[in-house]
This record gives sequence, C-alpha cells and structure tokens, in this order.
Amino acid sequence: MQRLLQAIYPNQCLSCGEVTGSDAGLCATCWRDTAFISGLTCHLCGAPLPGDDDPDEAPDLTCDDCLAIARPWARGAAAMLYRGNGRRLVLALKGHDRAELAQAVAPWLARAAAPLYEPGMLIAPVPLHWLRLFKRRYNQSALLARALARALEAPFCPDLLVRARATPRQEGLGAAARFANMAEAIRPHPKRRHRMAARKVLLVDDVMTSGATLAACAEACLASGASEVRVVTLARTVKDT
Ligand SMILES: [Zn+2]
Ligand SMILES: [Zn+2]
Repeated sequence: MQRLLQAIYPNQCLSCGEVTGSDAGLCATCWRDTAFISGLTCHLCGAPLPGDDDPDEAPDLTCDDCLAIARPWARGAAAMLYRGNGRRLVLALKGHDRAELAQAVAPWLARAAAPLYEPGMLIAPVPLHWLRLFKRRYNQSALLARALARALEAPFCPDLLVRARATPRQEGLGAAARFANMAEAIRPHPKRRHRMAARKVLLVDDVMTSGATLAACAEACLASGASEVRVVTLARTVKDT
C-alpha cells in the first residue's frame, strides 16, 4: 500500500518540488544548499560561533550582536541560516498555500528547540497584525509554533500575544529603527495572559534578524508574569563572512 501511494504521490523536495527518492524532505541539491546550524552557537540567538569545543561544555557563549543589543529572553536557538535554501524556505512559508511546509520543517525546528524545551513550557508564536493576517490568510509563525508544539507534545497558545497596532514593515530598517518601530506594538491577549503567569514561555518565529520583534514579544510576556522566555526560530540571519 505504501509503495502504491509513493508511486502515486512521490516524495517531493520541500523547496524546489523535485521528486526525491526518500522522505528526507529535501532533494540532494537543496540539502547541500541548506545551512543547518550545529556545533557552537550563541546561547541567545542560535547564531553559529567559531571553534570546535563541545557545545555542552560551553553553554553560555554570546555572539557580537547579542553582546551589543540587550536580549530580554534567557536562551535561544535557530535551525538554519537565513541564506540559500534556508532563505527560500522562509520566503515559501510566507507565500500562499504553503501551510503544509510548516509541518514538514517542524522536525528541524524541534531539533533546534530540544535543548531549550522543558515540559510545561507554553509555546506561542510572534503575532502578525490582523491586517497583514487578512492579506496573507495565515500567520506563518503560528503555523510553525503549532507544528513545533505538536512535535514536542507541548501546550500551545496561538494568540498569547497580539499586535496592538500595525507596525510599518521592518525590511530595510536599521536595528535602532526596528526596535523603536516595535516598542509598545505587542501586547498580551487580555484573555490569555493568565496562561503565562509564573510559567516559562517558548516564543517561535520564522526568522530572527535584529531581534526587535522577539524582544518586544519577550518583554510583553515578562510584563505579564512569565517566569522566563526562550526563543526559537527556523532561520537566523548572520553577516556574510
Ligand atoms: Zn530541491
Ligand atoms: Zn546571538
């Protein structure tokens, strides 16, 4: 039966649609073009760091970005770099009819989140303003957060946080402008804030660039009584080296 199904619905590459012989998710070409993050990483954003020490022996390393910008969350991780195929996957998640993609990338997100996750943590997405939600029809971060919560069998709250006002697009803005842009923009949902009281929250977003949105979300959680916030993203932008 499985063989019959595979003949009718062959496994396709998540990124380029090429038929692949396995259920690995990506074809060999896209796999090579995906910069999965492993080894030493920044404990706040998940950016890879140079060196080949055992990551378990050096748990609190911090990248230059996170040294320069205060991060209100305690720990963070990312599955892949926002370049090559990692960038294509994030952009595809924002496109139409790629909601199933969130489910398919969930194992990678779960692997990145595993060291951060503790039973009882509440998983929540970075919110999308309803105007943009209306245009796009779904919040890609909520899809990722739901898929991650399923993979970890963790409690999930899709509307823990809401956007209090529409924020201008972040693209093309410098870090300072992005942080100013986000200040006051994120609020707890008045009917959900009790769910994070005295509890650790794991925030999920598709990509971390400056970290301004995640910082605003983390601050909203802490102001609502969350005991700690951790963050996980599918992709992390890093400067080209
Ligand atoms: Zn491919
Ligand atoms: Zn960092």
